[in-house]
Amino acid sequence: MSRVSESSKSSSQAAEAAPINAGVQEVCCLLGQPVAGNPTQFMIEKAFARLGLDWRYLSFEVPPEALGDAIRGMRAMGFRGGNITKPHKVAVIEFLDRLSPAAEMMGAVNCIVRQDDGKLLGENTDGKGFLESLKELINPAGQRVVLLGAGGAARAIGVELALAGAASIAVVNRSAERGEALAKLLREKASANATYVPWEGEYEIPADAQVVVNATSIGLFEPEARVPVKFDQLASGAVVADVIFNPVDTRFLHEAKARGARTLDGLGMIVNQGAIGFRLWTGLDPDKALMRDAVEEYLGV
Ligand code: NDP
Repeated sequence: MSRVSESSKSSSQAAEAAPINAGVQEVCCLLGQPVAGNPTQFMIEKAFARLGLDWRYLSFEVPPEALGDAIRGMRAMGFRGGNITKPHKVAVIEFLDRLSPAAEMMGAVNCIVRQDDGKLLGENTDGKGFLESLKELINPAGQRVVLLGAGGAARAIGVELALAGAASIAVVNRSAERGEALAKLLREKASANATYVPWEGEYEIPADAQVVVNATSIGLFEPEARVPVKFDQLASGAVVADVIFNPVDTRFLHEAKARGARTLDGLGMIVNQGAIGFRLWTGLDPDKALMRDAVEEYLGV
């Protein structure tokens, strides 16, 4: 049961600081290695406090050999849920009780939700968070998508775009093995019109692409790094998105904007995936503007 403080019930100006604990607190967590520098705890704790929830969100450094014990600990101590980050997103599955259909399809979990019967459900909110951001600019149903990358983020985004009814998805990736595997997964498990496109040299974004997503790790913490694509044929009105969140205004987005694209930065995805988890754990809608401010403050961007 979620607990909302009296002060937040009586006032729309909910307390910024968590109320003094009058009982046992609800706990959520982040498990990964490394977790230092991850903004999730800072962002979620601000959102708890804004709603006057006497909840805690803690980050734990968990090595791979301790992951099973950590999940058993979450279950034994009645944690409400949490997030899973690198390197555990795939390995965690064997320790969970159930998976959501999307997590099952992706073969990866980034969010755990304790259910009413005490069982732990594995969910994947990365792609859903991206989709929520994207829908602020364009409905992907019926659109032609270029997806750059075939790693964890690309898998999550590709599955959600396929489930949302994208007309076609071109998976452009450096390594053929990963690129082909993702295109196959999208065709076979999500009934998508997906093809693998080898990425050699500069990739020319085709004129009919309506949504272009950089889901590679190129540019993270490297403002000068360049995603090797050409936007010369980019259609006007196309939406170009980046999963990179630091820097926020990436070189990729900068180049796309110069060609007239509508752009979407990686912070929206972080905030939205966090907000989806928050709703699953608490049943309440968090203040997403506050969460975005928190991430920007934490990352100093
Ligand atoms: P992975 O390591 O699983 O995948 C990395 C991808 O980037 C692969 O497709 C890889 O291609 C490609 N890549 C890396 N370097 C190059 C290069 N020089 N040239 C071409 N392709 C390259 O990482 P994730 O998918 O987990 O994460 C990707 C990025 O997304 C990270 O920067 C992460 O921080 C970010 N992210 C952002 C989120 C958000 O909320 N904004 C959420 C999750 C992730 P190849 O297969 O050939 O190696």
